[in-house]
Amino acid sequence: MFNIRAISAFSDNYIWCLSDSASGKALIVDPGQAQPVLDHLARHQLSLDTILVTHHHPDHTGGIAALTDAFPEVRVTGPADSPFKGLTNPVHPGGEVVWQGLTFQVMAVPGHTLDHIAFYTSTPVDDRPVLFCGDTLFVCGCGRLFEGKPEQMKQSLHSLRDLPDATAVYCAHEYTLANLRFARSWLPDDAELAAFEQDCIARRERGEATVPSTIATEKALNPFLRWDDPAVIEAATRYASNAGLPCDSDNAIFAAIRHGKDHF
Ligand SMILES: [Zn+2]
Repeated sequence: MFNIRAISAFSDNYIWCLSDSASGKALIVDPGQAQPVLDHLARHQLSLDTILVTHHHPDHTGGIAALTDAFPEVRVTGPADSPFKGLTNPVHPGGEVVWQGLTFQVMAVPGHTLDHIAFYTSTPVDDRPVLFCGDTLFVCGCGRLFEGKPEQMKQSLHSLRDLPDATAVYCAHEYTLANLRFARSWLPDDAELAAFEQDCIARRERGEATVPSTIATEKALNPFLRWDDPAVIEAATRYASNAGLPCDSDNAIFAAIRHGKDHF
């Protein structure tokens, strides 16, 4: 039986641990720190055999050297074109990663960084397909564009938007409440968004994570997946006109939303 648990790291990172109770093996996604992972593995009596890396940023890779010291056989899988040099199993978009009978598709999702990839499996874990998307798609937000262009990020998010609605979205940060404050400022009349914000505030007050989300929730609520939604187009048009930005295409609308969040 497979299980996915969050390991908290730094102030707001989630390192995801996918484990298989039959074999006692664990797969870890984006270990920016080693110690919380080592503690988690010991507590649950798991043996690490695979690390997935979505992109090169240190808060996603900083723990890998210490984890490979502790588990010398570990397979470190990540983007072949990454500036991060600690991979033992470089993969290309369109490729696959097989772990304990689960097959993950490797998806290119550049924008936050140029090497960014996501891992998706249609085989249900806890009854739903699984997406590990790093810093590309967040709950009601998306990653900042450190390396890529808005149109690249929009294309990346489009490919994630096309995944099945039930897909669980395991992103790498707890940024939800800040993302919702921005989304609500653009879409103050969106009742579904307002209700979701109240729900997320309550979950955070109980000390619970708001991640994972689902593709269905993100399609309905996340402004960065709604560049073709009339309410978002209206808000983007108003913002772009005030900011002196173009707003004459899907790409320009997406760029205006990202610009709005960057300057919020
Ligand atoms: Zn990052």
